[in-house]
This record gives sequence, C-alpha cells and structure tokens, in this order.
Amino acid sequence: MNVRRSKELFEEAKKYIPGGVNSPVRAFKSVGDTPRFIAKAKGSHIWDVDGNEYIDYVCSWGPMILGHAHPSVVEGIKEQAEKGTSYGAPTELEVKLAKMIVEMVPSVEKVRMVNSGTEATMSAIRLARGYTGRNKVIKFEGGYHGHVDALLVKAGSGLTTFGVPTSPGIPEDFAKHTITVPFNDIDALKKVIDEVGNDVAAVIMEPVMANAGLIIPEEGYLEKVRELTAEKGIVLIFDEVITGFRLSPGGAQQYFNITPDLSCFGKIIGGGLPVGAFGGKKEIMDYLAPEGPVYQAGTLSGNPLAMIAGIKTLEELQKPGVYESLREKTNKLSEGLKEAAKKAGIYDKLCFKQIESISIVYFTNKDVKNYQDALTSNTEAYAVFFRKMLEQGVYLAPSQFEVAFMSTAHTEEDIEKTIKAAEVAFKEAA
Ligand code: PLP
Repeated sequence: MNVRRSKELFEEAKKYIPGGVNSPVRAFKSVGDTPRFIAKAKGSHIWDVDGNEYIDYVCSWGPMILGHAHPSVVEGIKEQAEKGTSYGAPTELEVKLAKMIVEMVPSVEKVRMVNSGTEATMSAIRLARGYTGRNKVIKFEGGYHGHVDALLVKAGSGLTTFGVPTSPGIPEDFAKHTITVPFNDIDALKKVIDEVGNDVAAVIMEPVMANAGLIIPEEGYLEKVRELTAEKGIVLIFDEVITGFRLSPGGAQQYFNITPDLSCFGKIIGGGLPVGAFGGKKEIMDYLAPEGPVYQAGTLSGNPLAMIAGIKTLEELQKPGVYESLREKTNKLSEGLKEAAKKAGIYDKLCFKQIESISIVYFTNKDVKNYQDALTSNTEAYAVFFRKMLEQGVYLAPSQFEVAFMSTAHTEEDIEKTIKAAEVAFKEAA
C-alpha cells in the first residue's frame, strides 16, 4: 500500500504540531504504522491522501453514527453557513436541540450546550460540587472523561488514598479529591462511600466503559451504584459521551433503566461538529449561572452549525428500525469475526465484547470485566492485526483499548469484506 503522501505530511506536521497530531492516539504510535492523512469520507468509507480507500470503524471515535457526509446533515450545515456561523447570542436551533435531548433522554430535564465532552464532564463536576457543597469525586479505573485535570487520575495505592495525577502539569492538590475504584466491584464502591460518602459530591462513570476497550456492567451493578449514591445524596453523573444516542435513543440510562442525576454528552449530538452538553435534574441544573451561583460559559457554546448538525443527526436516529439495524449488523460482524478467529486458530486467545453497535476484540483469553482484565491484552498482537487489517482496507482504531463503531451507512458488503480481511489478519497475529 502506497502511503508516501501521508508519510510526507506526517513529517511536515511534526514541524508545526506537537507529535504531528492534535490528539495523541491519532499518531498510530502504539500500532507502529504511519497515520493516514484523510482527504475525504462518504458513508462508511474514508480515503487517504494517497488515494487508498478504507472501511471506517473509527467513525471519528463515535460521532459518525450516520456515516460520513450524510446528505441531511450536510444540507443543514450548508444552509446554516449561509446565514452566519456564530452569533454569540441565543438561537432557535439551540432550543430545538435542547428540547430533542430532553425528550429523548429520560433523566434530562434541562441541558446546557458546550463544545466538547471534556467541557461537559468538567462542568458537570463543578456543578455537582457547587450543588452539594462537597469536594470529593469518585471515578472508576480505566474510565475516561476527557482531559479534565481532576479526572486524569489513577488509583492511589490504597482504596481511599488520594488520587495520583496521570500527567505532569496536574498539581497533586487537584487530584487529591479524586478517588478511583474498580468497575463492576460494588463492594469497593460501598467501602469508599461508607468511609467518606458524606464528603463526596459526585460519582462519575461511563455506564458502559468504552475507553479501556469495552467493559459492560454486570447485571444489577448500575442499580446498586444508583442506590448507594442516592442514600448519601451523592450526585450520580453518567458520562454518556459515547453511549448517549448510541446504545438506544435515550442512551445507556434508557437501555439499563437507571436514572442518573446528571448526564454528559458529546460526539453524536454534534453530528461530527465540535459539541458537548450536560444535563439532568432541573433542581441541579438551575444551580448554574445566570440563575444559580455556579459559573459556566462559552463563546461558541450552542454554535448554530453544530446545533443543526446535531438536530439532523437526532432526527435520523428517531426513524423506526435504526437501532435494530445497527445491532443486527454489529451482531453479524461479531459472529463473523469469531468464525474468522476460529479458522485462524486464535479464537482461544481472544475475548470478544459487544453491546448494540459498539464492539471490540481483545487479544486476551480473559473474560474482560474491569480495567485490570483489559490490561492483560497482548498489544503487540493487536498491532499486527491492526496493520494487516489496514493494509487490506479496513480502518480499525489504532489502539487495543478503543472500540469499533458501526454506522447506519455500513453495508453487508462492508461487513463481509471486513470478516474476510480478519481471517488473514488473525492468522498473521496468531
Ligand atoms: N467522556 C468520554 C466517555 C469520552 O469517550 C470522551 C472522549 O473520547 C470524553 C468524555 C471527552 O470528549 P472530548 O474528546 O470531546 O473532549
């Protein structure tokens, strides 16, 4: 495969952009390949600057649930662009998108728009702290909530020890209010809440963890988290930046029938433009400025281009049969990949996970139920698999710990091609 132009651009990019990329995983570092510079995308396919075509399962890390350049999204953006791109004043579009979110997501009574998932989680945490008058926050090992200082924290050595920053540049003082517990372990959470629950403002969680591979909550786990937090007046924040409008029209909370106090969104609600949002109970949301005392703001928040892209996307997702079709296609892909792995003689070394239109193949024989399990994956073998898939025109996430997303644009033919390519790639990685 000729990737000459991508190589040239990457070298040039490195002169002007740290590491040559604007988000680290794009550099293909952990898979030892050249990052493809993308020239265009349509439906389920993307093309790089050397003219190579790929079936895309990254889908811009989740937003492109309708595939790329969906006609209705494109048309909406074009029409709005003619009318201006930002006013810094309220618009009808932001009311419309907010109303759609409130109507679709069961627990959300009011919602505020921001520009990224990171802003959404950062603001939700501030709001929870302001509302409760407490400082501590509990998160889960392997849970990713964007690059918020207080949430870029790994577990300390003991259960209720202070958090340790995972990046230089975060003062220990900022991380010390963050407590990290393992996912799918209700006793660990209970122990912390028993000890310091009255000081805890929020528990923030991805209800399905999708940044450490794909970690699905065990039966009854989320219910118990809800119970424990409610007992102590702790704000339960569901980070639905990935799961929102992905697992069901009402996200993970509708899928599992759990009512969080606050929820964070991003990705899909921007239809591929930069957006985030956080919302929840009226009583808590009204604690935000200008009505309430908790400050939060944004020059481009509620940007009309992003709003129209979000509205058009959610309109498509409300059509009948969309989620069923996404699920069926993903089932087909997962089953096909399992067969391919069996043929390649590598099946016993792999762990397949799927929920609705999100899936992953971990290169571990463990049944992955938490972050520690995920870390047993053979990332070298994944890198071999990834490169062989890419060479055959299948663009997977350039990291073992990222998932594959199905879009409404993926076809049966895409899925068949992917499975055929996987037969070859699994053999290479075996
Ligand atoms: N929360 C989750 C669950 C995410 O997956 C991400 C990004 O991948 C974020 C928050 C941060 O969103 P953004 O990258 O838009 O800041």
